[in-house]
Amino acid sequence: MSTTTQASGSVVLVGAGPGDPDLLTLKAVKAIASATVLLVDDLVNDAVLAHASPNARVVHVGKRGGCASTPQAFIEKLMIQAAREGQRVVRLKGGDPFVFGRGGEEVEHLHREGIAVEVINGITSGLAAVTSLNVPLTHRDHAHGVVFVTGHAKPGDPGTDWAALAQCAHQARLTLVIYMGVSSATRIEAGLLAGLPPDTPVAIVQHATLPEQRHASGTLGTLTATLGAHRLGSPSIIVVGDVLRGLASVGLRTTAAGGSSAWPLVA
Ligand code: SAH
Repeated sequence: MSTTTQASGSVVLVGAGPGDPDLLTLKAVKAIASATVLLVDDLVNDAVLAHASPNARVVHVGKRGGCASTPQAFIEKLMIQAAREGQRVVRLKGGDPFVFGRGGEEVEHLHREGIAVEVINGITSGLAAVTSLNVPLTHRDHAHGVVFVTGHAKPGDPGTDWAALAQCAHQARLTLVIYMGVSSATRIEAGLLAGLPPDTPVAIVQHATLPEQRHASGTLGTLTATLGAHRLGSPSIIVVGDVLRGLASVGLRTTAAGGSSAWPLVA
């Protein structure tokens, strides 16, 4: 790792949270306000840019910014170039930069280039999605821990061993929070059924914390059927575990109510 600092600029990786701009941290707001260059990922709500200086350069580096998703190597090049020009670069990422956000890869790259980097946490969508149903991730009676896991592996990587994970979750009483799982839901369902009972409660939350939020709940044995029946697509979080017991007992349902779920609010 290089220790020489060749740049007077800096890079801050900022978690923009799950969608609702009110869920930004104060530290994120301050970083956004002082940025001279903002590189904005897909899944970042543009409303957070209201905090940016009118003179800042805003570059959308997700699918919205071009015809396809901007390659990671190009984004890293842009960041380094801007930092070397002495800019205060903010890289805005959905949720938290260190939860399936490739923040780790970017920090390693910036360190290698001798560029100062700071990371500001955001509320990860897995946490926000479950909270929006008034369901906890852990509960002394239902779940002793939580696993954040991706349904989407790097090309060439066999990905998660769902059967092994299910056995572990069953024995250790863990809540599973699955990111990027919609397109592999059939495989995930089949794998998890090797270690978890088919009546294990499941919920899917799409567009968590945004006005267009929708969710459905069911059981592990009907995960794919539930997704299809309610036409839930990406971006969604799939939650599996006994913390959902109260929710699943009411049966399958969806709500179009963003932020205000159909479930009674805790006073
Ligand atoms: N760093 C992000 C995750 C990026 S991976 C975070 O911490 O949240 C992208 C995946 O995150 C999506 O495929 C989806 O599974 C999930 N996701 C992001 N925003 C979401 C939202 N508002 N509602 C539901 N899922 C979301």
